[in-house]
Amino acid sequence: MPIRGLVFDLFGTLVTRGPGPRAYRELVLTLPPWKWRHARHLALTAEFPTISAFHAHFRPRRGPAPAYFERLVAAGMAKIRLYDDSIPTLARARAEGLRVALLSNLASPYKQPVFELGLDRHFDVLVFSCEVGLAKPERRIYELVADKLELPASELLMIGDTLRDDVRGAKAAGLSALHIDRDGARADLHGLGDELFAHPVLNRG
Ligand SMILES: [Mg+2]
Repeated sequence: MPIRGLVFDLFGTLVTRGPGPRAYRELVLTLPPWKWRHARHLALTAEFPTISAFHAHFRPRRGPAPAYFERLVAAGMAKIRLYDDSIPTLARARAEGLRVALLSNLASPYKQPVFELGLDRHFDVLVFSCEVGLAKPERRIYELVADKLELPASELLMIGDTLRDDVRGAKAAGLSALHIDRDGARADLHGLGDELFAHPVLNRG
């Protein structure tokens, strides 16, 4: 089956968010442990426009005030950078006639950099977990991307840095997948560009 569409993860794949505390993780850790799993999933799959709104939903009895978490979000946002090869790779994919989707697990505030960095223009389809109420590795979110791209899952290649979400979850839903690790050694890809376009998975058709 030839590959006719590429599905990209966002963080760690097309953009880096740099070091520093993760605002939502810190907030979740102020809650009782039995709420952690639910709270993490809700942060990714519900539309809380701000982290203050998310804070108000859970009303933690301890931990810092919402303004502290807002500052963490802002500080994190300010560190987000495109990898050098991201835009050229997306442009090349479309020039070669591939359909291109973004599939990201993220909390609502983190949609903003996709538009500020001009990434949105390079995709046919944008799927954000917080908008669709599903998160990777739930099978239905990959099926949703396939539907939006109007291609069967078997003709899609998912590219991302998280094995559970971008490789195992995608393969379980019938997509092909490539693991990218921009720093480490054990991955299919260490950068995009030529490395991606030369890969046998893309060229088997
Ligand atoms: Mg990622």
